[in-house]
Amino acid sequence: MRYKGYTGLLLKADLSDGTIEAIPLSEQLAEDYIGGVGLAAALIHETVMPGTDPFDEGNPLIFMTGPLTGTIVPWSGRHCVATISPLTGIWGEAYAGGTWGRELKRAGFDGIVIIGKATRPVYLKIINQEVTIEDAASLRGKDTRETEKILRQDCGENVKVAAIGKAGENLVRFAAIIHDGAAARTAARCGVGAVMGSKNLKAIAVRGDWNVAVAEKERLMTSIRAALPALVKDPEHCAEKARAVFTMFVNDGRHAINNWRDSCLEGFNEAVLSEIESHVRQSRPYQCAGCPTGCVESNERAGVRQNVWESIAPLGSQSGIKDMHCVQKAYDICNRHGIDTISAGGTLSFAMECFESGLISEKDTDGIRLTFGNGEALLAMLEKICRREGFGAVLAEGARRAAQIIGSGAEKFAIEVKGLEVPAHDPRAHNFLALAYATDPRGAIHTGAADPKVEGFDLMDMASIRFDAERAPAMVARGQDYACILNSLALCAFSHAGYAQYYSAVGFPGITATEVVSWLNLATGMEQDFTSLMKAGEKIFNLKHLINLRRGLDSSSDGLHERFVTVKKNYGPAAEHLPPVANMVADYYRIRGWEADGNMTPEKAAELGLTISDEG
Ligand code: SF4
Repeated sequence: MRYKGYTGLLLKADLSDGTIEAIPLSEQLAEDYIGGVGLAAALIHETVMPGTDPFDEGNPLIFMTGPLTGTIVPWSGRHCVATISPLTGIWGEAYAGGTWGRELKRAGFDGIVIIGKATRPVYLKIINQEVTIEDAASLRGKDTRETEKILRQDCGENVKVAAIGKAGENLVRFAAIIHDGAAARTAARCGVGAVMGSKNLKAIAVRGDWNVAVAEKERLMTSIRAALPALVKDPEHCAEKARAVFTMFVNDGRHAINNWRDSCLEGFNEAVLSEIESHVRQSRPYQCAGCPTGCVESNERAGVRQNVWESIAPLGSQSGIKDMHCVQKAYDICNRHGIDTISAGGTLSFAMECFESGLISEKDTDGIRLTFGNGEALLAMLEKICRREGFGAVLAEGARRAAQIIGSGAEKFAIEVKGLEVPAHDPRAHNFLALAYATDPRGAIHTGAADPKVEGFDLMDMASIRFDAERAPAMVARGQDYACILNSLALCAFSHAGYAQYYSAVGFPGITATEVVSWLNLATGMEQDFTSLMKAGEKIFNLKHLINLRRGLDSSSDGLHERFVTVKKNYGPAAEHLPPVANMVADYYRIRGWEADGNMTPEKAAELGLTISDEG
């Protein structure tokens, strides 16, 4: 590998026959797909057969860092996990911050491809380039925090751990992979933890001693210094930042109320703001590896991760709950046992609406009164989901499958896109989000389109284009391509969002694509420019689309649940607005160069260097 930033090696572990090999990463792959999600998509497209079930041995579970991971580049302490999702049956990807990705690079690997299935519980131990498959029988049933603690005792205090809890072991279809124990840096979405469980892989413990080399260290350092914000490490400053973001969220009406059915939950906004105040006063900001700023979504108290917006809303207002102690308990259950808070909240609130509508009763729910606002019921059912016990086994399938099991038209309460439950940003509040949810290859994802302007992400600014259906298709397509670049570099999206960074001075807008291009070149020695990177982003996005087409997905999946296009809210600045999704999708296909039915034209495929001849 001529490029720096990469280690030049991928680790491949076949858990069926126990073989482990280090595979060289080609320069061509690095140029075409960068790293992170790009490389993962290329590998999945190349190796996964169209009919492969997510729980088949042939479905790979891929952990992939980027060329900036582990370098001196700020906000680069992240990695991607990709697979075919057991929740949706299509392309799946998730991201985690923390320290694990940096440690994998330090051990000498850019990524890990895991195939096969072990016949007994195992964990993967990586100490520099010494890799072994170890027995994990004694870890079975342990939560992610206990697992990390035990592995640090067994493998050395400095080891970094990615682990599943009992939810992953029990194949809960929205199980997550938790990194760094109590810090709970979570690869949450698309059921990546269930695929890990299906392989009988409890954990990956990694430690490395090498530094990641970069091509032009001095110039890179100078460029970073010039771009870094002034840092203000003052609790009042942090409180101001956090208050601004969370006030915008609640005033915007982005959170679901009672399974997206209602418009307002009295007292919820005040409870959120008081929770945030307590974060700043009683917790401490957490910083992922190499992160200079921390962010309003990362707080720890006594080493335990505190509520984030994607727990506060799905496990809170979406389930009719405003008691933040209860929501924190629910978040802790999700992190300990390893499930995605968004899908957990989406599935539980679905069940609550089924219960309140009489489709299910206490006879079905093991005696639990699963009503909106019943925090004790939510906590009890969460535990049952993780254990796949009683009615929990039904909900462990996710909202779409649970609706099919319940029957009687329960689908009308299952709020999802492509089978993936909806995050805490109401698509009725913004055309950009509505179209991004409808067209993301994973389903409803709020981070799939990086920003409307590409250079400099200002969420506050997005309010000005909230109802603009004409500009949304081009902005979403461009934002999705750029997100593919950020996710291939495995760079944190908050690098572009100074407003959400705790320690950066007020007014810092975040870095822009200019820094991204420059830092990639200085770190690796590549000669990319913004145009070539955006072309790579477009190729990666289209490749994910091709993987889905090959698995039988069609344009009927590119839409929103009927609740979002027929039921108006009566609260907030987006009240009375319904996004014109069908029209925007048609324009979006045209801009993407796809057929009217969502298939890719041969011309577009040729332009991107992709082949569609065997895509079905
Ligand atoms: S901004 Fe937050 S999520 Fe991003 S790298 Fe820093 S601490 Fe991690």
